[in-house]
Amino acid sequence: MEIDRKKYLSGVKRMVVKIGSSSLTAENGRLDRASIKKFVNEVSSLTRKGMEIIIVTSGAIAAGLESLGISKKPDDLTLLQAAASIGQVKLMSLYSELFSKNSIKTGQILLTHEDTTRRQQYLNIRNTINNLINLKVIPVINENDSVATDEIKFGDNDRLAAMVAVLAEADILVILTDIEGMYDKDPRIYSDAKLISFIGKIDKNIEDSAGGIGSTYGIGGMKSKIKAAEICSFSGIGTIIASSRVKNILNKIISGDDVGTFFAPRAGKRVKSVKKWIAFGKRTRGTIVIDKGAEEAVLNNGKSVLPVGVVEVRGKFSRGDTLEVLSLEGKLIAKGITNFSSEELEKIKGKNRKKILSEFGTSMCDEVIHRDGLVVFYE
Ligand code: GLU
Repeated sequence: MEIDRKKYLSGVKRMVVKIGSSSLTAENGRLDRASIKKFVNEVSSLTRKGMEIIIVTSGAIAAGLESLGISKKPDDLTLLQAAASIGQVKLMSLYSELFSKNSIKTGQILLTHEDTTRRQQYLNIRNTINNLINLKVIPVINENDSVATDEIKFGDNDRLAAMVAVLAEADILVILTDIEGMYDKDPRIYSDAKLISFIGKIDKNIEDSAGGIGSTYGIGGMKSKIKAAEICSFSGIGTIIASSRVKNILNKIISGDDVGTFFAPRAGKRVKSVKKWIAFGKRTRGTIVIDKGAEEAVLNNGKSVLPVGVVEVRGKFSRGDTLEVLSLEGKLIAKGITNFSSEELEKIKGKNRKKILSEFGTSMCDEVIHRDGLVVFYE
C-alpha cells in the first residue's frame, strides 16, 4: 500500500534538514549570506510553529577556501582540513548571528564516524541533541572535517545527515540541494528528464539513474542522497530531496505539497534502536560470505549465522566488531556483531557443531553472529 505523502507529513514533528554547499555558496565559492538568511528565516518560522529542527550543514570547506583565496578545490587533505577549520568558524558565526536576529540560539556539534561507532558515545550524541532541542536551541551539525581522515570519515554530509536522522529519531530527513529532486535521467543533459515525485522502494533502477549527478562544491551528488534515503527508509524515516532555491521550500514540504522527491519509509516492523546503530552507526571491520542454506535461514527463518554456513572470511577483525554479511552473489544481506575474530573464524568456517566440538572444544561453539546482534536488510 502506498504511503500518503500529505498524511505522513502532517504527523511530522522532528525534522533533520541537510543543506549542501551548493545552496550555501555563491558561484565564486563565497558564503551566500542572502541564501543562508532565507534558510535561517524559514527554519526559524517552523521552529516557532513547534517543529523540532536539526540542521546538518556543509559549506565549511568552501568558506575556508574562499577565505584563503583558493578558487579550485584542492585534493590535498591537509589543506582541506585547514580550510574546514577556518570555514567552520565563519559558517557557524553566520548561523549564530542570523538565528539570534530571530531570538533563536544555536549549538554546534561536529562529528566523525568514529564518534558513532561506540554505543555509549552514539547515545551521548543523541542526548546532547535532545537536550539542545529541549532548551529550544537549534543543533547545527557538520562533519568534523579538520580531524577526520579517510579512515574515520562519513565521507559526505548526506550520509552524516541520515545518521543524525536515525540517531535523533527524526520523522523526516530533508535534503536541500541545487536540483529540484530526483529525475529519471540527468536533467542537465536531457531536456525531457522528468522529476520523480514519489519513490516507494529504492531499487537498482533508481540507483542507476542517480548515476553521476553531482555539483561543484559538495561531495555527494545524487548517489549519496539516494544512499541517505535508503538508510532512513530502512529505519522508518521518510526523506525528501528538494531545491533550496524554491521559495518557502520547507513550509511547502511540511504542508505536503508536491515538491521535490519523497522517499517513503519502509513499511513493516520497527527496527530496534540498537539494530539501527549496528546497521549504520557502528563501523564495519570485515566481511563474511555465507552459503545459500545460511542465507535462507537468515532471511526467511529468523536464524543466527552459524560457522557451518560461512564460506569466506575477508579482512582482519576482532570479537565484537561489526561485519557485513554477503550472499554468494555478493549482495549485502545483513550486518552484525561477530563472536569470533577473523583468525578464529578462518579455523571454524564451514564446520558443523560436532566437528568444531571435537577439534576445539566448547569455547568455539557459538553462533558467528547471534540473531540479537544481526540486522537483516531484506526480510
Ligand atoms: N563537511 C563538508 C563541509 O562542510 C561538506 C561535505 C559535503 O559536501 O557533503 O564543507
